Amino acid sequence: MNKTNKKIIIIGAGIAGLSTGCYAQMNGFDAIIFEMHNKPGGLCTSWNRNGFTFDYCIHNLAGTGKLKLAKMWQELDAFDKEDIIQQDVFVRVEDENGQELNIYTDIQKLKKHLKTISPEDEDVIEDYLNAGHSLLNADFFSMGMDGFFSKLRIIPQSYQIIKWSKINLEEYARRFKNDFLKKAFPHVQYNMEGSDIPMLPHLLFMAGFEAGDLGWPKYGSLQFSKRIEKRFKKLGGNLRYNSPVNKIILNDNRAVGVILKDGTEHYADIVISAGDGHNTIYNLLDGKFTSDFIDSYYRSYGESQEFGLQVFMGLNQDLKGEPHAIALLINQDLEIEGIKRDSLYVEIFDSTTGLAAEGKSVIKIVMKGNYNYWKKLKSDKESYKQEKEIVYHKVIDVLENRFPGIKKDVEIYDVTTPLTVERYTHNFHGWQVWSPPAAC
Ligand SMILES: Cc1cc2nc3c(=O)[nH]c(=O)nc-3n(C[C@H](O)[C@H](O)[C@H](O)COP(=O)(O)OP(=O)(O)OC[C@H]3O[C@@H](n4cnc5c(N)ncnc54)[C@H](O)[C@@H]3O)c2cc1C
Repeated sequence: MNKTNKKIIIIGAGIAGLSTGCYAQMNGFDAIIFEMHNKPGGLCTSWNRNGFTFDYCIHNLAGTGKLKLAKMWQELDAFDKEDIIQQDVFVRVEDENGQELNIYTDIQKLKKHLKTISPEDEDVIEDYLNAGHSLLNADFFSMGMDGFFSKLRIIPQSYQIIKWSKINLEEYARRFKNDFLKKAFPHVQYNMEGSDIPMLPHLLFMAGFEAGDLGWPKYGSLQFSKRIEKRFKKLGGNLRYNSPVNKIILNDNRAVGVILKDGTEHYADIVISAGDGHNTIYNLLDGKFTSDFIDSYYRSYGESQEFGLQVFMGLNQDLKGEPHAIALLINQDLEIEGIKRDSLYVEIFDSTTGLAAEGKSVIKIVMKGNYNYWKKLKSDKESYKQEKEIVYHKVIDVLENRFPGIKKDVEIYDVTTPLTVERYTHNFHGWQVWSPPAAC
């Protein structure tokens, strides 16, 4: 590739910033990334506690199998193929009586399982899973890869896309005659609230699994980020850690450089912010380029977000043989943030995932978390800390019923809230990418 002699400044070494940097270098630009932390990844991160790795981010990564997106990860050298864990069961929904719905990643296996649970629901099961299978050719996750023409791929699937966007998981669950399926089905997509989640994303996941995709990179999210960081550096990119950007320099309303927190100025032909949108628009650019649409988008965003609250535990217990994820339907009282919870989403990482030593495991619980709830508590550091302790104790009491003896096997635990994300990435209100706007 010929050098262009053009310089690009990128703000942030999350996955977006690192990937942009790699492709900039591959296309002959000189890229420099300014990252406020001392490590790469942003949201795509993990941390170590007493020999356990607590993984914050990746659940299912598109492009780990046969989908076109795989080409991008190859170019970024993001993982070795042999380190991708493909799950047999995406999630198991378990009720209080031990009844199980296993969402197998193999559609034929899943069909058989569902028909065994409820032969009288054959039509509803066929309708659901035939749709999952037919969306396979849309390769939705690779949509941006080949520009305009890749989008034409979805035309034959437009009917399915419209049909399944209009119905949510809870509504679809009501079509089952079987009472257990009615109750369990709304929990199949990361246990997100079934009434908020259209069937379409779930079906795209089923199609992705059918393509042998959506695996999980062994060793977790930080390792994944570090691989792309390594690629960027190998391509000759310049990465500056501990370098928060305070302002974007403008010339005739064009971004021409940045001012770092230490006061130094840096100039380039192109400036790209791969940090949080809100911080970029209202702080780095002083709100000069906002609009009513953008303002109302940020004003109307919901304060409660899926995955906002996470509880991690390092266990002296081998949980091999358990599925990777369980949506546990519970009938005991569980109130968190003053809201009654009727289920817990439990992710299990045994030693084969690289997150725990042999004979040990990590458990991660993800649930909805409310920014304002934790923000109020944070005004008194001690109350904030205490509330996190309370959350842990409530959760472990519930888990004790499902995993007898677990309490005594917990060696270390940690709780993250939307404020953890805000502090760590400067993301406005600790938002993550997939919180749907409340209204916009
Ligand atoms: C809990 C969770 C689970 C997820 N699960 C999946 C999954 O299973 N599959 C999947 O594909 N995706 C998943 N995602 C989404 C995916 O992780 C994100 O889309 C992606 O990591 C976002 O990357 P980013 O680079 O855009 O932003 P960020 O990760 O937010 O990175 C921004 C970076 O910019 C830095 N920065 C910000 N402001 C400045 C500044 N002023 N100066 C210098 N540096 C700055 C930050 O420190 C950070 O490193 C998940 C996300 C979360 C939070």
